[in-house]
Order: sequence, then structure tokens, then C-alpha cells
Amino acid sequence: MRSIYSKLALTSIGIILVSALLGFYIANAYYHESIKPLNDEKNVRIAQAMTAFLEEHGEVQLDSYLANVAAVGYQICLVDGNGAERYFGAAFKDKRLDEPIKRRVLAGEVYHGMREFPKKTFMTGFFANELRNTIGAPFTYNGTPHAIFIRPDIKLLFSEIHTLLGWMIAIMLVVSIALVIVSSKFLVSPIVKLTEATREVKNGRFAVKLDITRNDEIGVLARSFEEMSMRLSQLDAMRTEFVSNVSHDFQSPLLNIQGYTQLLAQEGLSAEERAQYIAVIREETDRLSLLTKQLLLLTSLDKEESYCRPERFELGRQMTELVRKSLWLLEEKGLALTYTIPDVSFYGDPALLYNVWENLLTNAIKYNKENGTITIVLTDEPARVVVEFRDTGIGMTDQEAKRVFDRFYRADASRSRAIPGTGLGLSIVSRIVELHRGTIAVSSRPGEGTSFVVTLPKKD
Ligand code: ATP
Ligand code: MG
Repeated sequence: MRSIYSKLALTSIGIILVSALLGFYIANAYYHESIKPLNDEKNVRIAQAMTAFLEEHGEVQLDSYLANVAAVGYQICLVDGNGAERYFGAAFKDKRLDEPIKRRVLAGEVYHGMREFPKKTFMTGFFANELRNTIGAPFTYNGTPHAIFIRPDIKLLFSEIHTLLGWMIAIMLVVSIALVIVSSKFLVSPIVKLTEATREVKNGRFAVKLDITRNDEIGVLARSFEEMSMRLSQLDAMRTEFVSNVSHDFQSPLLNIQGYTQLLAQEGLSAEERAQYIAVIREETDRLSLLTKQLLLLTSLDKEESYCRPERFELGRQMTELVRKSLWLLEEKGLALTYTIPDVSFYGDPALLYNVWENLLTNAIKYNKENGTITIVLTDEPARVVVEFRDTGIGMTDQEAKRVFDRFYRADASRSRAIPGTGLGLSIVSRIVELHRGTIAVSSRPGEGTSFVVTLPKKD
């Protein structure tokens, strides 16, 4: 597998080289199309200025004049009336020039060797040090026709610029390639970190800290990753706690059942003892069965919203029904119940909501005191229904009240008084309320009583 780093670096370097080459190609084409004719014209003017001077001043020494001009920065080839050639200035690399051309210039024509110079793709004609790449101009000197062929001595005139340009391009290339290599590393390093972090999470180490402080997309990705791993670590902790709670809650009834079955196996038990042991075993199996049912319900509620199947039903009637069913229990415990339950129809899951009221009423009964009271008030508001369960029971401290919706949580008082329960009731209640987009609030005072208020929004 080629790493993303080398891919990125190679692609960028490729882009730099391709664009340099393309730039050169386009500049060359531009030279041939636009600059070459202009350059030709310019040099024609210069050549004609020379020939005009020579024609006017027949007295100047032709060779020394041309040698002088050449020293200023020109390469010159002089062809005299006899066809003899003399050169001034730097030597031409290629001295070939067709005879007819020379003759035509001697006869008075101007030769546009620069304009006509063939196009070459990667070699700009500008630099071609050839006799063909010159301007030819005719002139008469001391009565005989002459021709000069000139071109600027590029080496002499531009050699500094040449080197400068060369260095500039070389430095540009080297620096940009170096920068690409460094910046690719900088771009890719968080991805490497993220990959290592995913490996950590995969191996069960959730608390990863990425130390990526960027604000770009990778920074956002890193932060979401950290949040995700944090959430995973919370879930993992919850799962471990849940499993240990469940095992503990299954363990104690099982131990009891084990113990009492051993007792039952003894010989010479009285019928009374036997009945007592059997009752304990039955109680514990009931507890186990309730626990399993509650756990199953909780998992179903956790798993999917579709578990909630809402329909329109008579909420008021459902609650009065529940109260009616519980009357014997209230009487048995010597509790007084007052309630205000008007007829209200509501859109929600009747079976799940029945669970809510039943749990709250059972708690109000279980955690009550002798001769205590329970009040249930159902208020029908335009946008919501509010249900309050209030009791004058044992109550809870603020810390305890905060935790009642946690799975398996049971306040100390209920444990010490050996009131049976699993600590799952209210977590089921709060999950059902949540599925109905409602809220549940608790307020309680130790020794005075507790109030649970459920608010359910109406929606049709
Ligand atoms: P379960 O309902 O699963 O049989 P549980 O009643 O112990 O068991 P929850 O209904 O979730 O579990 O209640 C959690 C704890 O909150 C209880 O153990 C109790 O300590 C406390 N609690 C709940 N309702 C009341 C109340 N009305 N008054 C005082 N304490 C309460
Ligand atoms: Mg309960």
C-alpha cells in the first residue's frame, strides 16, 4: 500500500513539474506567435540604421565601424560585392546561409531571417546562434553593393539575466518540492494519528487524546472522533456496571433458592417449615421473573422507538382503573388515597403508559408510612397533560432523588427497610416518558414525602 503521504507528495511534485513544462511550452509558443515578428522588426530597424549611417559616411573605415558595433553587443557577418564574408563579434555556431539569400540582399532586399526562423517546440528561436537567424540589410559602400547580417549577441547581452533566470527557476523548483514534502507531512500527520487512535479504540482503549488543534475538516474529524471515543468509553463503563448489577441481582435470589432447596432436602421437616421454605423459594423465583421481565422491557425500550405504538385512548379511565385495582393494597397498608382524575383522551402507547402509572403508584405505596396518604392529580392542559403522584412517605435526600432514574439504583432507606424491589422501575418509567417526548421530575424530602410530576405533550 502506498501511503497517502507519498501519494500527496508525488502528485504535488508531478503538478509542479508538469506546470513548469507547460509554462515553458506556452511561453515558447507565445514567442513564436507574437514576440518573434516584433523582434524581427526591431532588429531590421537597427540594421537599417547601421546601413544608413554607412551609406552617409563613406569616409568611415567599414571594418573598424563594424568591429565597434559588434563590441556593443552584435554578431555581424559582412558580405561584400565579391561575395566574400567577414565576421565581427562573437562567432556564429552555424554559418550556413543559402547563396541566393546573400545575392538577394546584395541586390537590395531585406532578409527577415528572425521572422522566418523555423518554430521549434522546446528550443526558442530567440537563442539560436545561427547565421540563418539574422536580419540581412543591403547598403552601398564606396559605390559597391554590400550586405550585413546581424543578430544581437545574446550571450553578451543577456548572460546575467540568463543565469539569474536559471537560478530563479532552479531555486523555485527545489524550494517548492521541499515545501511540498514538508507540507504533505504536516497535512498527513493528523491522519496517521487518527489511524493509530482508531486502532487503540478497536483494541478497547477508549480514552484517546488526539492533540490535534486544527480548525479545518481534519480538526473537526479529530474532535468528533474524540467525542465518539469518549461516548464509547462511557457506554463501555455503563455496560460493565450494568452487567455487574445484573449478575449481583440474580446472584442473591439464586443463592437463597439454593440454600432453601438444601434445607427442603433434609429429612424430618415439619409441614410448617416445609411450607415456609417453599414460600421463600417462590418469592425468590417471583423476584427473578420480575427482574427478567423488567430487563427485557428495558432492552426493548432502549433498542427501538418503534417499540412504542401510540393510539388514541382514554387516559383518565386508564388511571381510575388502576386506582380501583389497587384499592385492596391501599387498604391493607392503611393508606388513604385522594385523586382528581378527569376524563382525558390522549395519544400515546396505553400499555407503556400503564406501566408508568403502575410503577409510580407502587412506589408511593411501597415507600409510604403508616396512615400515610397518596394524592394523584391529572391536569388536562391545551398542549399537554400533567400527572402528579404525591405521597407522605419516607422521602429521599436530594442526592438520592437525583439518582432514582439510574438503572438498579435504590436509596439506602428502601434497602435497610428490606422493601423488595430491583431499582429498575423508575428507569423504565423515565425511558417510556422520554419515548413520549415528555419529562419527569421528582422532588422529595426525607421523612416528609415525595412527588413525581410527569408531563406529556399532546400531539395529533
Ligand atoms: P422496582 O420498582 O424495580 O421494583 P424499586 O422501586 O426499588 O424497584 P425504582 O422504582 O426505580 O426501583 O425506585 C428507585 C428507588 O427510588 C427506590 O429503591 C427508592 O429508594 C426510591 N424511591 C422511588 N420512589 C419513591 C418514593 N415514592 N418515595 C421514596 N423513595 C422512593
Ligand atoms: Mg419501583
